[in-house]
Amino acid sequence: MTYALAIHGGAGTIDKSKMSPQLEKEYIKGLEDAIYAGEKILKNNGSAIDAVCAAVCVLEDHPLFNAGRGAVFTSNGTHEMDAALMDGKDQNVGAVAGAFGPKNPILLARKVMEETDHAFIIGDTLNDIANSHNLVIKPKEYFFTQQRWDALQETLKLKQEGKVSDDPAVRHGTVGAVALDEKGNVAAATSTGGMTGKLPGRVGDSPVIGGGTFASNQTCAVSATGYGEIFMRYTAAADVSSRMKFLNEDVQTAATHIVMEELLPNDGTGGLIAVDIYGNISMPFNSSGMYRASVSSKSDLVVAIF
Ligand code: ASP
Repeated sequence: MTYALAIHGGAGTIDKSKMSPQLEKEYIKGLEDAIYAGEKILKNNGSAIDAVCAAVCVLEDHPLFNAGRGAVFTSNGTHEMDAALMDGKDQNVGAVAGAFGPKNPILLARKVMEETDHAFIIGDTLNDIANSHNLVIKPKEYFFTQQRWDALQETLKLKQEGKVSDDPAVRHGTVGAVALDEKGNVAAATSTGGMTGKLPGRVGDSPVIGGGTFASNQTCAVSATGYGEIFMRYTAAADVSSRMKFLNEDVQTAATHIVMEELLPNDGTGGLIAVDIYGNISMPFNSSGMYRASVSSKSDLVVAIF
């Protein structure tokens, strides 16, 4: 019996010279905590969907990652969070966009999947769902981090001068997880604050099924991170699966093709994580770094940034 799990905490121009040993340690610890939370479930014969939710919740609770607590600000200085999860067993999905309040947007997406007749919900209904299912709600202050606020001020200033920041890692990021459980089911979960200074109402690729999140027991589970508009336009996550299904590519070939041959030439900086139904893991990226970790019943723990 095989299980496998991979997680990411965002990709971008991660400047090694700006990464102090202390900060690097904090990122690594965050990734380790998340992967252990997910692996514990898989080791105990738990489901892939539970494992990806557990791993993503840890990353959402961590102030350094752009999701949940560490989410970036919109141009109005507010938070709007997107999240989605997909169960490869029946291709059931739950997605939310523009959410604010729930401590863990991925759990809100799960409620959409399990407690409503719908796949994707936005707006005030999300608050009703969160309240009626007793999700933990946090006030504005919980989601304030100085580093994200400073990034917004810098982005707004550059915008006024007609420039763009040369450090996308400060402006965006996302967290995600993909898993294969011992019953042979795959699942994917992705959660994000989006892009710093985004227009209110902007939705990225993360909650768009086939864009930033996809899972099917026919092929694999995928969670992406990067320049969302491009990932969406190129249906990045679904295309990894389609290449495997229709071209008989293995997960590594399919995932690398999408990241290097489809996204990169089209300004789609970032990367993705994928796990296939045999437990093979692929984590390609075309930026200078991607916070990532993986483990499986047949391979050792890997935690890496660059
Ligand atoms: N893909 C996310 C978005 O566009 C951002 C990221 O992953 O860096 O909202």
